[in-house]
Amino acid sequence: MSLMSWGMYPKIKNTVFKFNKEATLQEIISTHDELIPYGNGRSYGDSALSTNIINVRPKDYFIDFDEESGLLHVQAGVLLSEILESYVPRGWFLKVTPGTKLITIGGAIASDIHGKNHHVEGCFSECVENFRIMLANGKVVTCYKDLDPELFKATCGGMGLTGIILDAKIYLKKINSQYIDQTTIKTKNLKETFDAFEEYKEKPYSVAWIDCLAKGDKIGKCLLMVGDFRDDGKLDYKKKSQLSIPFNFPSFALNNWSVRAFNWLYYGKAKEGVSKQRVDIDTFFYPLDAIGHWNRIYGKKGFTQYQFILPKETSYEGLEEILTAISKSGKGSFLAVLKLYGKANDNWLSFPIEGYSLALDFKIEKGLFDLLDKLDEIVIKHKGRIYLTKDVRVSKETFEKGYPDIETFRQYRKENKMDEKFQSNQSKRVGI
Ligand SMILES: Cc1cc2nc3c(=O)[nH]c(=O)nc-3n(C[C@H](O)[C@H](O)[C@H](O)COP(=O)(O)OP(=O)(O)OC[C@H]3O[C@@H](n4cnc5c(N)ncnc54)[C@H](O)[C@@H]3O)c2cc1C
Repeated sequence: MSLMSWGMYPKIKNTVFKFNKEATLQEIISTHDELIPYGNGRSYGDSALSTNIINVRPKDYFIDFDEESGLLHVQAGVLLSEILESYVPRGWFLKVTPGTKLITIGGAIASDIHGKNHHVEGCFSECVENFRIMLANGKVVTCYKDLDPELFKATCGGMGLTGIILDAKIYLKKINSQYIDQTTIKTKNLKETFDAFEEYKEKPYSVAWIDCLAKGDKIGKCLLMVGDFRDDGKLDYKKKSQLSIPFNFPSFALNNWSVRAFNWLYYGKAKEGVSKQRVDIDTFFYPLDAIGHWNRIYGKKGFTQYQFILPKETSYEGLEEILTAISKSGKGSFLAVLKLYGKANDNWLSFPIEGYSLALDFKIEKGLFDLLDKLDEIVIKHKGRIYLTKDVRVSKETFEKGYPDIETFRQYRKENKMDEKFQSNQSKRVGI
């Protein structure tokens, strides 16, 4: 059966390989090309899709843990959720986690994912001590940032295009509660939203939900949620049962009116001004994971996420322009998440730069890609870039303008013959 990504678009035919032994993986690599590793398929677009897919998810053993330093050694197919189930009750949490815990360690490294604390902790690669990776020639190397900086910079954020990560050592952080003290700030426009981010920037975690259909002087109104772990010793973290969407919704169910109604209710239910709540890890970090297969609400044609980042200097102006364009287009998004980012690292294709990023979900429909092309122009004008792990349609030209290290990455892949073996639909489209 062919594999899809989270956006369920595009649907392409592919052959899926699994392996138990490294010798089997060597054999697959030596006898095939157009290969790409696949973790848990939570990337939205075509970065884990190709003619030949190597499914790493079955490699899900825990190898070792050092209670003193918090250094955890796991195979690349282990999910973040599996780490949380074992380690939160023992007082450990991930240093960096995205908005879903249903991703693999290999996927976290390959996308160099970030969380609600990028302005404090940076990307996932910042907590990676080393990883073992099988390269295009079938050789397995252990890569440390200091000892093999090029392989490290190419692989973290390299979207599976340097080889198959087999296992990794990552540092966890100590916590003394599975609860977070959350403060919610309700703002009335973009200016208030930016002021609130600045005011609360000392908080380690922050994320804002934006009403992307708001118009005029209400553009940019949001609910900003900031927080930090409590210190109450309550570590009773358990796997919760999950509701699930049983089938694809008809695509007309999601339209300008249903998004407007959702936004009105969601924004309306929050208290005016500043309010405080105690919430658990799953509610704060992974609200969408509460509903299984929520991607089906977008209908069988699927959906995409448009995520861009702008440098701090141009963020306000650029966001105002982009939110105005979206609001005018009438193409709404339930999910419109704004985050603050700290300094960039030096990995060649890592997405974050110092500034603000907005992520918006859109169902695939006529006219959508025209709108996104227009948004690309605004992003590039303001010196921003698009996040590959969410993308399914960005042009080579737009992509290149956002990533100044692209030639170094290309050259490295060429020198190490990685470009002959590892390719995704996305890498072919954007020429990497
Ligand atoms: C609800 C939701 C919220 C999200 N929130 C965030 C967020 O806040 N921040 C963020 O950064 N991302 C976020 N994401 C995106 C997600 O974290 C990334 O797409 C992640 O890479 C998916 O991991 P995966 O294991 O599912 O990998 P896949 O989707 O299967 O693959 C993603 C990429 O990793 C590569 N890859 C996978 N395994 C390996 C391996 N073993 N070796 C080498 N390469 C490999 C693939 O080739 C592909 O290029 C979110 C996604 C969802 C669905």
